[in-house]
Amino acid sequence: MVPTEVDNRRMGSDRSGWGRAGEQPSRGLGTAALLRHTLLWASRRRGVQRVVSQSPLTRRLVRRFVAGEGLGGAVDVVRRLTGRGLAVTIDHLGEDTRNAEDARAAVAVYCALIARLSAGGLAPRSEVSLKLSALGQSLDPEMAFENALEVCRAAAAAGIAVTLDMEDHTTTCSTLEIGRRLRAEHPSTGLVIQASLRRSEDDCRALAHPGSRVRLCKGAYQEPVALAWQARNDIRVAYLRCLRILLDGGATPLIATHDPALIDACHRLLAARGDATAHEHQMLFGVRGDEQARLVAAGEEVRIYVPFGERWYPYLMRRMAERPANLALVLRAMAGG
Ligand SMILES: Cc1cc2nc3c(=O)[nH]c(=O)nc-3n(C[C@H](O)[C@H](O)[C@H](O)COP(=O)(O)OP(=O)(O)OC[C@H]3O[C@@H](n4cnc5c(N)ncnc54)[C@H](O)[C@@H]3O)c2cc1C
Repeated sequence: MVPTEVDNRRMGSDRSGWGRAGEQPSRGLGTAALLRHTLLWASRRRGVQRVVSQSPLTRRLVRRFVAGEGLGGAVDVVRRLTGRGLAVTIDHLGEDTRNAEDARAAVAVYCALIARLSAGGLAPRSEVSLKLSALGQSLDPEMAFENALEVCRAAAAAGIAVTLDMEDHTTTCSTLEIGRRLRAEHPSTGLVIQASLRRSEDDCRALAHPGSRVRLCKGAYQEPVALAWQARNDIRVAYLRCLRILLDGGATPLIATHDPALIDACHRLLAARGDATAHEHQMLFGVRGDEQARLVAAGEEVRIYVPFGERWYPYLMRRMAERPANLALVLRAMAGG
C-alpha cells in the first residue's frame, strides 16, 4: 500500500482499538462511547452545571482548559504561548445566545480583544474564532451575519483573520452559507469541517480551492447515527478522505487534531505532495503541550485555540467528553471533590 493511502489496519491498531472502518465497536469501547454521550448530555443540563461548577476540582480543570474569565488573563496566555513560537486563535466563550443584546455584547468583547491584541503587538501571531450561536444565529441568521461581519472588519483592520467555529449539525448549512458571504469581503475567513459528519466530503469539495482556509476537526458534538460516523476509526478514515479532497483542490488545511496516529497519517499525505504544501496544525489550550512543542521544534506552524470567558461550562464538558478518563474527574466534581 502506498504510504499516502488511507491505511485502515494502521489507523485501527492503537489501543483505542476500533476495528476496520464499518466494524461494530468492541464491548469495552461501547462503554467509552456511552461515557462520552453521558458527558455531552451533561453539557446541556443546567442542574448538572450548578453542581459541577461549584466544585474546587472543577476550578482546577477550568484553569487547565480555559485562559481565564477576562480579557487580561487571555492576553497574558497569548503572550506566553506566542513567546514559545506558537500562534493562537482566541475564542470568547458564550455560545447559544438567547437575545440580541447578548449578541451585541459578544461583538463588543471581540472588538475589545482585537484592539488589545493590536496594541500589545500580538496581532501578527493571532487570529480569533467565532461561534455564530454566540452572535444570535438561532434568533436570526441575518443578525448573526451582520455581527460576524462587524468582527471581521475590525479584525481585518488589525491584520487578524477570523475562523467560524462549527457547532452541531443543525447549524452546518447556515454556518457555511454565512461563511461564504463573509468570504466575499474577507477571503481569509476560515471555515470548519467536522470529519465525522457524513456530508463533509461534499462540503470539502465546495471549499477546496486556493486561498480557502479550512480547519479540519473530528467534531465535538453528539450527532445522530444517520448523519455521522460514530466509530473512532471510521472518523479517522473520513478525516483523511476530507484532507485529500482539500489538498487536491489547493485549499490550506488547518489540521485540528491531537490524535498522534492521525497526525502521522496527515504528514504522510502532505509529504507525498512536497514539503511546501501550505498547512498548519491546530490544538486546544491545555491539551498535549508536549506534542505542540514537538511540532514547533520540527518547524511546523502550530496554532493554539485559546478560549476565555465566564461561560466555560459547555466547552469544558465537551473537553471532558473527549477523553473517557475525564469522566472520573467530573464524577468527583459532582460528588463535591
Ligand atoms: C484547534 C481546534 C479547534 C476545534 N474546533 C472545533 C469546532 O469548531 N467544532 C467542533 O465540533 N470541534 C472542534 N474541535 C474539537 C474536535 O472536533 C475534537 O472533538 C477534539 O479535537 C478531539 O479529537 P482529536 O482529534 O484531538 O483526537 P482524540 O482521538 O480525541 O484525542 C487524541 C489524544 O489527544 C489527547 N486529547 C484529546 N482531547 C483531549 C482532552 N479534551 N483532554 C485531554 N486530552 C485530550 C489525548 O491524549 C488523546 O488520546 C476543535 C479541535 C481543535 C484542536
